[in-house]
Formats: sequence, structure tokens, C-alpha cells
Amino acid sequence: MQICLSELFNHIDEPKTFEVSVEFDSVKMLGETYPVTEKSPVALKLTHLGKKKIQMNAEIQMTLEIPCGRCLEPVSVPFVISVDEQLELSDTPEQATEDSDEPYIDGYQLDVDALVRNELFVHMPLRVLCKEDCKGICKRCGTNLNLGTCDCDATELDPRMAAILDIFGSANKQH
Ligand SMILES: [Zn+2]
Ligand SMILES: [Zn+2]
Repeated sequence: MQICLSELFNHIDEPKTFEVSVEFDSVKMLGETYPVTEKSPVALKLTHLGKKKIQMNAEIQMTLEIPCGRCLEPVSVPFVISVDEQLELSDTPEQATEDSDEPYIDGYQLDVDALVRNELFVHMPLRVLCKEDCKGICKRCGTNLNLGTCDCDATELDPRMAAILDIFGSANKQH
């Protein structure tokens, strides 16, 4: 949803509040798509500080479903994000948001969906696990090792160790 910021310019230091519903149902990030499983409207507070400078406060609450980094089972990841930012609007709108991945200001329009996507991107955890001690999946047969075991040889060779064994192997052949 777009909010027209120029409507704020008539008043100074008078906060205006908005409840803005988020219109997207999934988030695309780095080639992955994460479904939104829960969302609350964004509580937005905008205050014109004068000279087209706007104080923006936003409370974002939503839950994304992200696959576990080890076993790929979907994990519900809640996001609770508080945004506290000053927007300096000008006639060259790119300047206001030059450090964001997706511009959320276009002229005097604030694109709340784009703002939320930006914040989700910034707050994305580096690694999502279904539980701290997730055993992951067997690299050979794909069995989820949290749910069962498989008969594959579980000894994972350290790559450096494998290289040494390789050297011994070829040395033996020469003799
Ligand atoms: Zn897992
Ligand atoms: Zn296996």
C-alpha cells in the first residue's frame, strides 16, 4: 500500500498514525521464496519535522516459513521489527533511500510493502535451524535423520584426510 507523504507537509510535529495491511503473501529473497504464514498490519507513525523531513516509526510483525538449514523442514520464523528512521524528502527521490535494496520512496509516495520487504531482508537470520541439535538429512539417501536412521555409512571423511589417503593409495600402486 502507498501512503502519500505530501499530505503531512501542512503540519509540523503532529504525528499521524496508520494501520497498513501488508499485501504480499510470500517474500522472494536471494532466489528463494518464503511464504508469509502470519502477519499483522504495520503500525506506522509519521511526523513531519519541517522542511520535508519526516520521522518514520513502524512496527512490523510477521512470520515467515523458512526451511531448516540442515534438514530443509519448514520452520516458522517470527519477525518483530521496529523501524525508526528519518526520511528527507527531496525532488530527487533516490537520495532518500540510496542505501536500501528496494526503493520504498518514490517522490512523495511511501511504499509500505517495499519498506517491509527491505526490513525483512535486513533482519533475515544467517542460519535457520528447526532445533539447535538438528541432525540434518543423510547426504546419500536423503533420510531426515531427526525422524529415523538409514543404513548408509555415516563416517564422513574429512577432505584433508581423504587427500592423504589418496596419496597413500597412489604410492602403494607404484610399489
Ligand atoms: Zn532441521
Ligand atoms: Zn542414508
